[in-house]
Amino acid sequence: MDYLLNEDQLMIRDLARKITDERVIPTRAELDEKEEFPHEIMKALAQSDMFGIYIPEEYGGLGKGSFELCLAVEEISRGCIGVAVSFAASALGTYPILLYGSKDQKLKFLPDIASGKNLVAFGLTEANAGSDASGIQTTAVKDNDHYILNGTKQWITNGSVADIYTVIALTDKSKGPRGVSAFIVEKGTPGFTFGKKEKKMGIRTSTTCELVFNDCRIPKENLIDREGTGFLVTMKTLDMSRTGVGAQGVGLAQGAFEEAVNFARKRIQFEKPVISFQAVQHMLADMNIQIEAARSLIYSVSRFIDSGANNVSKASAIAKTFATDVAMRVAVDAVQIMGGSGYMRDYPVEKMMRDAKILQIYEGTNQIQRNVIGQAIIKEFARKK
Ligand SMILES: Cc1cc2nc3c(=O)[nH]c(=O)nc-3n(C[C@H](O)[C@H](O)[C@H](O)COP(=O)(O)OP(=O)(O)OC[C@H]3O[C@@H](n4cnc5c(N)ncnc54)[C@H](O)[C@@H]3O)c2cc1C
Repeated sequence: MDYLLNEDQLMIRDLARKITDERVIPTRAELDEKEEFPHEIMKALAQSDMFGIYIPEEYGGLGKGSFELCLAVEEISRGCIGVAVSFAASALGTYPILLYGSKDQKLKFLPDIASGKNLVAFGLTEANAGSDASGIQTTAVKDNDHYILNGTKQWITNGSVADIYTVIALTDKSKGPRGVSAFIVEKGTPGFTFGKKEKKMGIRTSTTCELVFNDCRIPKENLIDREGTGFLVTMKTLDMSRTGVGAQGVGLAQGAFEEAVNFARKRIQFEKPVISFQAVQHMLADMNIQIEAARSLIYSVSRFIDSGANNVSKASAIAKTFATDVAMRVAVDAVQIMGGSGYMRDYPVEKMMRDAKILQIYEGTNQIQRNVIGQAIIKEFARKK
């Protein structure tokens, strides 16, 4: 299908495709096996201005939107979503600054993020606060010109490799969700260290670790927006970034589909390539239908977001849920079409199947997305009465 991309969009897609073909696909198995962060690929992405896609030109970016970011994320994900999420999590961590940061914060932090010099991470989740983000216990107490942070964030993508962290903490426990605030914490700040590094089922090139704050003093200028808006900042950030997770799903599904087609064309059984069996063709047709539907949805929702629309929560939840469920199904079917070979590490689809699972979990599980969609339906129909 032709999605009528303009010249700039084609350039971004083709550049990401080239980096994926030349740098990601040849190294992904080794990175996965060794659980090594893809530093060299991040450098190549930085050199191609990929980290600045969605950042305004006045702060050193390309001044494009979440649609163009999705195009890049999709391409990289065709090779490896562990690499793609290492790249995309930098945007997740940057959105709080981009959406709610002061002019001074933007001038200070965005240029080095846009150039790829500084990588970013987003710290919300804690041991007792997963789907229920209101359970966070990390505190930020004002002390004259500083805030003092105490607590532990868990499972943070890019933890330890990132230079900048946007962190959600309680500034006033008595106020519930209105007592939560967002902060910028720089790596190297005294009292800020890294804890357990996770060993994961998939996306093993991506680093996931704890952020530990122990009387960590940060300047009051690092508060994003104002005290009490941390939940709003978080929700709007996730609204922006969810299509990116969906784009990871589309890319992964495309990669798995291509592997399955190529294998089925070459594998001979009963004296015929297995692609000649209608049962296999129907599986491939269903995979193809789902991928194009997911791609269309991700593209239209990210364009909707870029239009400046106000309430995008339901649309971004629909897009993330659909595209990531597609990724899981397509990865499983790719393994099935390749039979025993698909189960072996000699082929990339076993890794894709392991990797795909995380897409239905992070940035809000797909059950939580369905809750968001369900609540939105109730409100929409109540308004119609
Ligand atoms: C590899 C990885 C990377 C991550 N990266 C980051 C990161 O960079 N930054 C960050 O802040 N967090 C990150 N996370 C955390 C991630 O966003 C959470 O894991 C996710 O939000 C779900 O929380 P949980 O795992 O605690 O599941 P839980 O909340 O414990 O949920 C367990 C199960 O119950 C279901 N459930 C819970 N509540 C409801 C409900 N109300 N209705 C229906 N079902 C429900 C869930 O869908 C799930 O199936 C990461 C996690 C992983 C695994």
